[in-house]
Amino acid sequence: FEPSMQDRARLRLALETDLRAALALQQVKLREALTLDQFAVHYQPIVDLATGQLTGFEALLRWQHPTRGTLNPDGFIPLAESIGLIGALGSWILRRARHDAARWPLPAHGTPLQLSVNVSPLQLREGPALIAGITEALQGAGLPAQRLEIEITENAMAEQGASVLADIHRLGVRLAIDDFGTGYSSLSRLAQFSFDRIKIDRSFVQVVGGTAGSARPVAPSNAAWMIRPIAALGTGLGISTVAEGVETAAQASLVWEAGVTEMQGYLVSTPVPADAVPALIARLDQA
Ligand code: C2E
Ligand code: CA
Ligand code: CA
Ligand code: CA
Repeated sequence: FEPSMQDRARLRLALETDLRAALALQQVKLREALTLDQFAVHYQPIVDLATGQLTGFEALLRWQHPTRGTLNPDGFIPLAESIGLIGALGSWILRRARHDAARWPLPAHGTPLQLSVNVSPLQLREGPALIAGITEALQGAGLPAQRLEIEITENAMAEQGASVLADIHRLGVRLAIDDFGTGYSSLSRLAQFSFDRIKIDRSFVQVVGGTAGSARPVAPSNAAWMIRPIAALGTGLGISTVAEGVETAAQASLVWEAGVTEMQGYLVSTPVPADAVPALIARLDQA
């Protein structure tokens, strides 16, 4: 069976119409989700490599979709951006995460835990709205500005004027460069900003194999030579570096030997719902 050109054109049009309808429906559902309380924030621990102590959590957005289960943000953040919903969603995340973080128990080591929140490049571009959202989130009790950190990807930081970043700093809030090593920024561009933490993208960490829990020694690899100068940059600037996506003991020792100061990844814990955080803090207190 060989469909005619006309049939094929008709089929393509039908598919396109379906796609557009599906997208429109998704947009409606995404808008509804905010009012229907279908979003949740999960938290993933970040631990100090030297001491094993918990230093804080990164807030990661989830959509508890009525029919499709729990959805990760990569799938719907771009959609939220395209329909102008990211500002409202971003403010909601900040308020929600602040509310949760204000209730976290103090860990045994006694230092209050940090809360790291991601913001999208679009939120950064709408600077005043972002600053208003952060200011509002800081107004409630329980989370002093120094405990809040805003994560900005290397690319977003590079394309952004320094002013909104300076405004964030002026509030006393910390700044982290996210996904470091994957962007297009030059070191001279980065030198124009001051930030408090560097998060090394997991693509650098995961080049080393090994299954979770294996204590197999790390094979010599290019990865260490890539990670080492980033760690040294952190040391030189007097700020911490976080290795992202650490899944195995081999990866943990790789980043430790390269001089990285903190790690985050499935080896310690996957992101957990807010109500599971106290038990996780208690577990990491034992470690
Ligand atoms: P990200 O900021 O780089 O966040 C880290 C991602 O790596 C998270 O994916 C986390 O679940 C995942 N991850 C953590 N440990 C491991 C590991 O050991 N192995 C692997 N393979 N993955 C690990 P998630 O939660 O799906 O988030 C994806 C991205 O969506 C984030 O990347 C961030 O760019 C964005 N995002 C998440 N939450 C928010 C938010 O509240 N606002 C905005 N604007 N973006 C967000
Ligand atoms: Ca992040
Ligand atoms: Ca990252
Ligand atoms: Ca990422």
